[in-house]
Amino acid sequence: MKKISLLVSLLMAFVLLVSSCGTNSNETTSEDSEAKNPEIEEVEIEDVKDKNAGTEDAETENVDAEDAETESDNTIEAYTGSDKPVITGTTTFVADIVKVLAEDFVNIDMIIPAGDDPHLYEPKPQDLQKITDADLVIYHGLHFEGKMVDVLENYGYALAKDFPADRVGAMDQDGDLIIDPHFWFDLELYQLAVNNTAEYLSQLLPEAADTIAKNAEEYNEQLVVMFEESKEKLDSIPEDSRYLITPHDAFNYFSRSFDIPVMAPQGISTDSEVANKDIQNTVDFIVEKEIKAVFAETTTDPARMEKLKEAAAAQGFDVKVVSGEGQELFSDSLAPEGQPGDNFIDMFTHNVDLIVKNLK
Ligand SMILES: [Zn+2]
Repeated sequence: MKKISLLVSLLMAFVLLVSSCGTNSNETTSEDSEAKNPEIEEVEIEDVKDKNAGTEDAETENVDAEDAETESDNTIEAYTGSDKPVITGTTTFVADIVKVLAEDFVNIDMIIPAGDDPHLYEPKPQDLQKITDADLVIYHGLHFEGKMVDVLENYGYALAKDFPADRVGAMDQDGDLIIDPHFWFDLELYQLAVNNTAEYLSQLLPEAADTIAKNAEEYNEQLVVMFEESKEKLDSIPEDSRYLITPHDAFNYFSRSFDIPVMAPQGISTDSEVANKDIQNTVDFIVEKEIKAVFAETTTDPARMEKLKEAAAAQGFDVKVVSGEGQELFSDSLAPEGQPGDNFIDMFTHNVDLIVKNLK
């Protein structure tokens, strides 16, 4: 049943993505996959619909990191130690949310250092120690931590618990259906992640639950303001300049939130090969739309964007590569502590300001 639920969730997300792509680069990918597998979505979705007909199973509405479904039945035991409990978070995003919600009550340990690529990060023996020693392990889910999925699903609690299927993106990558883990550019999903974390922390620390809930509420309000301000700024970019080209496909939720078409030569996970065809498609798009600037990311190699520039130049078009210290987009990591962009709100604001400055 759970497998069927996950399948229908995935397929629903995929169909929604296909139908809502617009001028998004995914159009190309989606069309490719449709051409290869024209019957898949219709047949299987109908099939699964029949199987679920008449049931009111809420599971079909949501996408979970696989473990979270079973964990959601388990309450986290209240912490009884005398020192502050240790919360191990996989990424800078997790550490930031825990800090916002419960900084005074916990010690935070992080696994993937700021600037490292979570898709590719291989856990070291000391990371496994951090996981088994922690009083609570929190991770993203949606297979963002691509090389650590099994251990995290055994030991951890996912930010991405009970996400509505119609808000979770998915796309075809090299013939596989991949869930898009970059949900932090979607306000509703990020608020859900904050609320899930608040729930986990409150279960661990029942006496701090009121403070944690208040912190979550205040933070969620700040997020709303930030998204509104971001929308206003991005709306100031003229429509014919409004295209975001990034190294890997991390900005689909951002695209949907702010109505800005995105394109990337590499797929959702940096684990995939970058095909020459995808580079050529991106270059053709840049030249056709006369896109002023393309952006490097802090977690991937900027050389790829230079290749795009060279290929565009060969077609007689000059595009700027926005890169270098302080001039890169944050996609999959916040900045190291103490540097600009070391918390989610600053990171997001940096991205928006950088995009507006270079595309307007
Ligand atoms: Zn990514």
